[in-house]
Amino acid sequence: MQIKRDDEIFDIEDRLPLLPLRDVVLFPYMTTPLLVGRAGSVNAIEAAVQRDRILFATSQMKPEMVDPARDDLHKVGTVIRILQLFRLPDGTMRVLVEGICRARVKRFMASEDYFQVKLELMPDEVNRSAETEALMRSTLTQFTDYVHLNRRISDEVLLTVNNIADPHTLAYTIASHLLVKVPVKQEVLEIDDPMLRLKRLSEVLLSELEIVKLERKIEGQVRSQVHKNQKEFYLNEQLKAIRKELGYQNEFASEIEELERDIKKARMPKEVQEKAVRELDRLSKMSFMSPEATVLRNYLDWLVGLPWKKRSNDNLDLAAVQKCLDEDHHGLKKIKERILEYMAIIKLSKSLKGPILCFAGPPGVGKTSLGKSIARSLGRKFVRMSLGGVKDESEIRGHRRTYIGSMPGRIIQAMKKAGTINPVILLDEVDKIGSDWRGDPSSALLEVLDPEQNNAFNDHYLEVDYDLSQVLFITTANYLGNIPAPLRDRMEIIQLPGYLENEKVQIARDFLVKKQLAATGLKEGDVILSEKTLGEIVTQYTREAGVRNLEREIATICRKVARKVAGGEGGVPATVTPAQLSKYLGVPKFLDQPLEQERRIGLANGLAWTEFGGDVMTIEVSILTGKGKVNLTGKLGEVMRESAHAALSYARRISGFLGLEKNFYQNIDIHIHVPEGAVPKDGPSAGITMAVALISALTGIPTLPHVAMTGEITLRGSVMPIGGLTEKSVAARRHGVKTLIVPAGNRKDLEEIPKEVRQGLDIILVEHMDEVLEHTLAKTEKSPDFRQTRNLTTH
Ligand code: ADP
Repeated sequence: MQIKRDDEIFDIEDRLPLLPLRDVVLFPYMTTPLLVGRAGSVNAIEAAVQRDRILFATSQMKPEMVDPARDDLHKVGTVIRILQLFRLPDGTMRVLVEGICRARVKRFMASEDYFQVKLELMPDEVNRSAETEALMRSTLTQFTDYVHLNRRISDEVLLTVNNIADPHTLAYTIASHLLVKVPVKQEVLEIDDPMLRLKRLSEVLLSELEIVKLERKIEGQVRSQVHKNQKEFYLNEQLKAIRKELGYQNEFASEIEELERDIKKARMPKEVQEKAVRELDRLSKMSFMSPEATVLRNYLDWLVGLPWKKRSNDNLDLAAVQKCLDEDHHGLKKIKERILEYMAIIKLSKSLKGPILCFAGPPGVGKTSLGKSIARSLGRKFVRMSLGGVKDESEIRGHRRTYIGSMPGRIIQAMKKAGTINPVILLDEVDKIGSDWRGDPSSALLEVLDPEQNNAFNDHYLEVDYDLSQVLFITTANYLGNIPAPLRDRMEIIQLPGYLENEKVQIARDFLVKKQLAATGLKEGDVILSEKTLGEIVTQYTREAGVRNLEREIATICRKVARKVAGGEGGVPATVTPAQLSKYLGVPKFLDQPLEQERRIGLANGLAWTEFGGDVMTIEVSILTGKGKVNLTGKLGEVMRESAHAALSYARRISGFLGLEKNFYQNIDIHIHVPEGAVPKDGPSAGITMAVALISALTGIPTLPHVAMTGEITLRGSVMPIGGLTEKSVAARRHGVKTLIVPAGNRKDLEEIPKEVRQGLDIILVEHMDEVLEHTLAKTEKSPDFRQTRNLTTH
């Protein structure tokens, strides 16, 4: 067989020795160096060298095979010529070969030492068209890009490639330079049509280009990361050097050491300690001034600052508890007893798994100071934590440790303040917590108070569990109705409704004066306030259920005396008489307002409940000629306005019975006024009071003095129960009320009223308005028998 290439003519023998190739594909026209070592291959080369140096090379399907059989070889390969040959001392050879022409194996003929093959040549036809030209160019462009991007191929290749005019040569040259796997190259070799071959090459190039680009990108990223790390490292080293120069180095190192010591000393649970050590390790690798280091240092300070094991020993001697409570508080007998019962249970069950105590009542009645006394009597630390206005769950649970200012929640803060794991924590004003879109703090609080869960309290900042199970939680509230129901369920409520005047005088005499003298640095006996003087302070300078303002007024007197003493004016002991009070405290703030005795037409005493305790309010009604208008004045809320209209409707229902004309209201204007306008009032409990004042005004029958009432009214005159009865009855007593009209529906609440208060009050339970009128209106000759009105109003 003959084959012509350029100017050369090759005579190809019918049979050729076969050279199996492991991981290359040889292409025609290409010169390639090969290292030949396998015995079969060496023999094939030797045989060729004996003849015309021409042999056939084809690649193996599996490169790892040492001794491939015929089926392990590709049928299409290249006829090659050996250009150079070096025999190496170890018996292997280095040969330089040149591809001549593609050929396909027709038959394998095994000889002893090597394969021989019978071939069919596959000469490349010259076929040039514009299309081929275009394809050549685009492939060339791709290849140029490929070479530029791929640093493993020398740019010189491009010089050669650019001068190739023949599509076959071009394809073979490019294919032999591509860094792709053997099967891809073999595929290119096997394609006969030069156009198809170029197309396939172009596809391969395209995908290779993508890969190379990606590689370059990743490489770039890695490089920039390395650069960044190097830069940081370099800067850190510089920083260290600067710090060393300035003498800071030791400071940081000693801080780390100190933290390490503190961590060891803190007696943390194992997981917490592990976490602390991990974080400390992180900190020691950080740059001292970085924000991260500040956050981390702060965090570690919290971990070491919290009590983990430290506790105070409980003194559960009930007699001592009683002694403490008595030493700090006047009266409150029933309440002290309930506290003692509660303590007894703690003592016997040796756990705090009972309900949480909740002291409920107006301000200044001693809720906080009872909590303090309990802590003192047990020998525990005391921390007060106000929940008023807490709307955000993270105030309880803390903020995640993501920014410099983040902190643990209030519970953990309280624990740090306490410094022991078993303090008494007073959660003040549980009724004032709100909730909004930032989460519901009451559910977090529930977890805090739940003995099943609070041994592993989860604070967002702390990240580690904290044990709250040994804390004695006590809560306080002004108004029970505002406590979220699930929280309320966990509590044992103890009500402190407020004090009567004489109780306040005794509290002042036995406790407040002493306390304020000590606070101002005076000795006992330096200021003498008689009971009469104290009584005047109570009535003329304060109006409250508790004793907070009373204490403040006494403090003012003590301060004034102390100032004189300090100014060298002497004057102790100072006896302050009632007449001198205005000198110390200014003009009286509240003039004694005894309940109106005369001219009681259109007046009725109602009882109000506010957060500051109960109060007596006198409702006034005037009737004027007019056009049927109803005016309401005195800062009344919506519910109170509705009550006024309900009262009017009731009066209209029984108008005939009252001796009024059917349309009486069309010719009059009714003015309802609730004095003491400073406090906004709302709630339905003034309903019956308005009705009484109104009917008194319409009929001209005066109301009885010393009678006060509370109750909601329906249009038909039924009297509905109300809230805050205890505080209201204390206020009634304070104002000299003798008879109290109370809805029958509140019968169960009577028990809560302190004995001293009940003793001085005649409490009448009523179901219907006719009974109210019966007990509140004076008996005159024109007084009707109100019991008959019930027939008018029930159908
Ligand atoms: P609250 O927490 O209910 O608002 P505090 O506990 O702050 O009230 O009490 C206000 C002041 O009144 C405190 O100085 C407290 O010691 C004093 N106090 C209240 N009730 C009594 C009492 N029964 N005996 C002695 N002092 C009292």
